[in-house]
Amino acid sequence: MSISENISIIRRQIAEAAAAAGRDPADIQLCAATKMNDAEAVRQAVAAGIDCCGENRVQELTAKLSENAYQGAPVHFIGHLQTNKVKQVVGKVDLIQSVDSLRLLRAIDAEAARQGIRQDILLEVNISKEETKGGFPAEDILPLTESFSDFSNLRLRGLMAIPPISQNSGDNRKFFQEMYNLSVDITDKTSDNVSVNILSMGMSADFADAIACGSTMVRIGTAIFGRRDYTKKHST
Ligand SMILES: *Cc1c(COP(=O)(O)O)cnc(C)c1O
Repeated sequence: MSISENISIIRRQIAEAAAAAGRDPADIQLCAATKMNDAEAVRQAVAAGIDCCGENRVQELTAKLSENAYQGAPVHFIGHLQTNKVKQVVGKVDLIQSVDSLRLLRAIDAEAARQGIRQDILLEVNISKEETKGGFPAEDILPLTESFSDFSNLRLRGLMAIPPISQNSGDNRKFFQEMYNLSVDITDKTSDNVSVNILSMGMSADFADAIACGSTMVRIGTAIFGRRDYTKKHST
């Protein structure tokens, strides 16, 4: 199956999940998770009408930007970002979805100030409370949102989460529901640099559940590009 056929199928599944939840499918963006896929595959996904690309690794982002791989679609950063690499990401992407610590938040704010720009970000929430995973504890989100004017070079657009890989349909619903409740709590906290309308959650295995719980952006890799081959050495 081609990338564009896969995307048509996913669009149909998004529409079905939205209809089942009484939602408008236009309110759900499809972000193609492009890690380990080359510029040509990314171009095919963009041509097939995905809403944005999400890249995980700084090296891959830099390489694909230089190849104009994302041309025609916004590009987001969705992987763990080390503070010493913020220069390579801030101002180069439309949205940094994976801001997972206060230290990183401050580093991105400082780099945006240096560049004289305002960077859009999402706060990553460690909703499943996994020790090995980054992200803010859920209870930190509301206070952080209320004091977000401290980060005058950033604009907070919403929340993202990466719950555990689900084995069975329905596994992650409780996490998705908690994320939705959290996003509702902060949606009315609008200020000069807080404008929350993105809830990024749901991947290949569980995006229908995420949509049922209120996701506005699903990040899909495998179902678009096929399984990633981790044995292959990638050129980037
Ligand atoms: C890889 C990745 C995805 C997509 O995962 P699939 O299961 O391949 O759809 C989504 N979000 C993030 C942060 C990822 O790293």
